[in-house]
Amino acid sequence: MSARIERRRITLSQSASQVEALAVGRTIERVLRRAKNILIELSGGYVMRVHLGMTGNLRVISDWRLRPLYVSAWFAFDNGRGLLFEDTRGLGSLTIQDAAETRKKLATLGPEPLSRAFTAEALAQSAAKVRQPAKVFLMDQRRIAGLGNIYAAEALFVARIDPRKPVGSLSPPRLNALHAAIVAILRDAVRSACKAYSRPGGFQEAEDFESAVYGREGERCRVCAAAIRRITQAGRSTYFCPKCQR
Ligand SMILES: [Zn+2]
Repeated sequence: MSARIERRRITLSQSASQVEALAVGRTIERVLRRAKNILIELSGGYVMRVHLGMTGNLRVISDWRLRPLYVSAWFAFDNGRGLLFEDTRGLGSLTIQDAAETRKKLATLGPEPLSRAFTAEALAQSAAKVRQPAKVFLMDQRRIAGLGNIYAAEALFVARIDPRKPVGSLSPPRLNALHAAIVAILRDAVRSACKAYSRPGGFQEAEDFESAVYGREGERCRVCAAAIRRITQAGRSTYFCPKCQR
């Protein structure tokens, strides 16, 4: 394949020309996902690591010459097909790294929340004696991989847990409820993403997700009608219902 980076800042600390040079002549061997990273394994021991950000999208087209004008990056394959990285808000990233090194870096991540490894017991074990506030804990990628700001807030709302509570102080039934809420919310999100993908106009996660608390500061809670609050935790906004979540 050959590569062209159109939006140069997506390659982070690598230069765009470095990424383009690393892509040349390689073939795609496997596509995986770990946490929020899409890992496209390339021949010769390299991996293309893609983070979609809020609005990023990868798309295969049958002829690379028919790509739209505005894409963050595009790849042309020998069989004529193209791979596009589209990203309207430009928060995504794309780098090409040594596969072994990337594997080592990703090994520190916690379990995938929709995998068999993520059980209620595993969550309780990882939360035991931890003083991190519940919301900060949920977003800590070493605890659980791939849970972002929106879904962490929504899971705590469903489980009726105050996001400021030290996670180690939650009782076993409350941790069970939290585990169930995380799994239910992510399953739901996957379902709605599948629906969005099959519709013209594509997929805009942040826009499509109907949140109960996220982004709703000052609005009424749909359960108790109290005003939703916003606070800052570890530099990120947390939305919650002060009445439902204790
Ligand atoms: Zn409420």
